[in-house]
Amino acid sequence: MKRVNIIILSFLFFGICNSIFSQNDKDSPRDGEGIHSFLKRNNRIGNNYYEQFLELNKNKLGKRNTLLKGVTYTLPSISKGNKEDQLSKKSNNKESSPIYIEPLFGSAYEQYTIKSNKLKGACFYLSSGHGGPDPGAIGKVDGYSLHEHEYAYDITLRLARCLQEEGATVHIIIQDTQDGIRDDRYLSNSDRATCMGETIPLNQLKRLEQRSNKINDLARKTKEKYKRAVFIHLDSRSQKKQLDVFFYYAKNSSGGKKLAKTMQETFASHYDKHQPNRGFTGTVSMRELYVLTNTTPVGIYAELGNIQNSFDQRRFLDPNNRQALANWMCRGFIKDYDNWKKGR
Ligand SMILES: [Zn+2]
Repeated sequence: MKRVNIIILSFLFFGICNSIFSQNDKDSPRDGEGIHSFLKRNNRIGNNYYEQFLELNKNKLGKRNTLLKGVTYTLPSISKGNKEDQLSKKSNNKESSPIYIEPLFGSAYEQYTIKSNKLKGACFYLSSGHGGPDPGAIGKVDGYSLHEHEYAYDITLRLARCLQEEGATVHIIIQDTQDGIRDDRYLSNSDRATCMGETIPLNQLKRLEQRSNKINDLARKTKEKYKRAVFIHLDSRSQKKQLDVFFYYAKNSSGGKKLAKTMQETFASHYDKHQPNRGFTGTVSMRELYVLTNTTPVGIYAELGNIQNSFDQRRFLDPNNRQALANWMCRGFIKDYDNWKKGR
């Protein structure tokens, strides 16, 4: 009898909850608002609301989930038991970390919080290979052209976000104000990218000189002692050649060599954990590349695989794999920074 009562009571309770919380508000976006900022203005912070919003408005959104001007959108109802909601209340609290916004990450990822101090005092200059008039290597799959730059840029943004979450200062040298972090398999191509707002020249030497100068200018003004310049590329070899992740460092750079080795070890141990039978064959070597030779911070140049090879393409096409590459690099930097601090 008691059990029946409880069941009836809980039905009643859920019924009441539903009727209290089910009225949905509506609103239209302001100029330049992405979903996150739109939801934030309407006091709905967190991924739960984001997912609910996408579901509620799936037929009203523009390309890549952009908000359309003049359209009225249904807002997810504010639920009291919502875990994310409590989190956001907590983060409005002075003691916990505030929410930061980096518009370059795009509307789905622009908000981030600083989760740790592991990279506090570290400064990074992230330069994704090519960009602007230069797409870099081009691979073909399923009728799509894969541009090296677009994939390198997506991974670079993911890395930037990871590093910032660990407390680092990050300068994103090559930028595209429209392409944020994209969870697509086939990343659309454009020549919009700039060197922090400046047009990227077509001439290869001028192009490399421009980003190197930018890094050196910033490094001169940087107060952090630990500075690392990071160059991210995908390689282009013959279609059959499967490549692991390669790291290069500059001639006579002991810091660069240490960093590259640490990075390689980090990747090897992650591969051992996730794909135990695979083995990791990525190498570390010195290479006289323009950007490594001509930039003042300790540098590392990563070649993340062969854009022509179908096995390697899996590493880039799946956004989760791009995120994993960024996460592992971030772990490598944390380790390198620890080693650096110990060695002082
Ligand atoms: Zn390249």
